Amino acid sequence: MPKKRILSGMRPTGKMHLGNYLGALENWIALQDEYQNYHLIADYHVLTTNLSTDEIYSNTIEMVTDWLAAGLDPQKSPIFRQSQIKEHTELFLIFSMLITKARLERNPTLKEQVRDLNIENLIYGHLGYPVLQAADILLYKGEVVPVGEDQLPHIEITRELARKFNSQYCQDAPIFPEPEAKMTNFARLPGLDGQRMSKSVGNTILLSDSPDIVIQKLKKAVTDPQKMRKNDPGRPEVCLVFTYHKKFNPSEVPEIDTNCRSGVLGCVDCKMKCASKINEMLAPILEKRKSYENNVNKVVDIINDGEAKAKEIAESTMIEVHQKMKIG
Ligand code: SF4
Repeated sequence: MPKKRILSGMRPTGKMHLGNYLGALENWIALQDEYQNYHLIADYHVLTTNLSTDEIYSNTIEMVTDWLAAGLDPQKSPIFRQSQIKEHTELFLIFSMLITKARLERNPTLKEQVRDLNIENLIYGHLGYPVLQAADILLYKGEVVPVGEDQLPHIEITRELARKFNSQYCQDAPIFPEPEAKMTNFARLPGLDGQRMSKSVGNTILLSDSPDIVIQKLKKAVTDPQKMRKNDPGRPEVCLVFTYHKKFNPSEVPEIDTNCRSGVLGCVDCKMKCASKINEMLAPILEKRKSYENNVNKVVDIINDGEAKAKEIAESTMIEVHQKMKIG
């Protein structure tokens, strides 16, 4: 039986942090044997929040370097830029005719974006964001899309657009699958200040951070504010460092829980244990990253190769689309 096809992507935001890794990348790597994966660099999507294009290319290279260093295999999982496959924008245009403005205004992620980013003047690109995302997925006939809970409304819109196109133009034989969402299994990792992890806030640990930097950053991480001195009893359930232990040091969690509550364990020692586990996890990634940093052309070649593979599928889908629409 042929492997199902997965389409997943990220906006090129530069170096990846632990939140990106646990929220998406780790999952992509785990799925690359079971599925046929395609990984999109969503460089046009960047424009919805930042019109400056100065850093898109360098951010793309940094991000892909982290993807490869973390274990994404470009032979199994082609990597390509949205902007370089013109069929994305063509299918986006066609899908834009198949969905109402009212439906896009009801999209809950639009409301969140307006609130979180303090957007005063909504542009068409904000409204059309999930339509472009649907084109990204369906151009490759993606059957499975790994997402976090916040992206579920976009998958629903993708499914609706697939149904609408199929019913409008392909009564005989549908061409687009209705993709399923595959939920990532680890809840969002908070930043060092306990808030959402984000580079713009400066509360991240990057996959490319050296061991010393990880230690320095962990030293500043928030803990239980009631545990002021080493021997004060602590409350692991309100402590960020404990959340990190649960992910990076699960075998010691029961002991840390007991020793924190009894006051035997101080926060400084607890943070150093945590830093050491994170550094252990990052060591092979750092090493692999160095080899790509020393040979950036290899990263560029990998992207070019991924774009050639993606282009082949995109062109073939658009031939079908044109045939079904009796255009061209
Ligand atoms: S001892 Fe560890 S788990 Fe307890 S409050 Fe301090 S850092 Fe958090």
